[in-house]
Amino acid sequence: MDDDEWIFDLIEKFRKSFRRLYSDHPPRDERELYVTEVLYCPRKAFLNYTLNARFKPNVAMIEGTIHHMAVPDLDFWRGKDARFEVPVKYKVDDFVVSGRVDVVAMKPDQTWEVYEFKFPARLGNENVEPTYLMQGNAYAFMLDDYVGYSVTDVYVVEVAMDRFRDEIDVRVLYTKPNREMFDAFLKKARYLIECIKNQELPEGPEFEWECNKCPYNIICNKIKPSEPSAFDLTHGTVIDTNGGGDSV
Ligand code: SF4
Repeated sequence: MDDDEWIFDLIEKFRKSFRRLYSDHPPRDERELYVTEVLYCPRKAFLNYTLNARFKPNVAMIEGTIHHMAVPDLDFWRGKDARFEVPVKYKVDDFVVSGRVDVVAMKPDQTWEVYEFKFPARLGNENVEPTYLMQGNAYAFMLDDYVGYSVTDVYVVEVAMDRFRDEIDVRVLYTKPNREMFDAFLKKARYLIECIKNQELPEGPEFEWECNKCPYNIICNKIKPSEPSAFDLTHGTVIDTNGGGDSV
């Protein structure tokens, strides 16, 4: 190795190590869908599943992983019986929808609360908050079904690091477990499963922004304009603990 080559070698090893942080996922089971796929564009989930696609993680995903890794170290959990990255599965027809709950913590009355962490660039994005809540709410029902935890509270904690103001901004969304919202999640899962079984390309996403940076843009640009989505996320009542009630 030349005099300077070792440093370039070291740099490359670090770069690759960070890239691999997010990419060591086991392959999906034959009839497995992920919670995060069900929540967003059904066409993207369909293509992921059908093509058995495995993507190189982008920088935002890697950054999110690094932030999530810090969650168990928060002093907020001190004195609590908190479990991290808790796996859940839920049978939907002959498929299984799986996910990992960021944090499940036991309350003094032996019931449980779910915490889902998000690290967006900015807080209060109403395009995604209903989906965040649907995710946390789905985990509440999946935990009950899969491990018998009775969940009574669901929190979505949004954290944005503002480098310019040198501030950490936090917003908390809250819901009680909401059956109607979970049924809407199951409806999305069933629609996706039907499309997979019938090999029918599903419709596009709820929001156009989901297409930004989507690896399937090259395919979907040939199909667009996309049809309107069949799903309406405007359900359930959410209490935004930073400032009163919000209907979403
Ligand atoms: S480009 Fe848009 S419509 Fe196509 S799969 Fe991606 S998110 Fe869905």
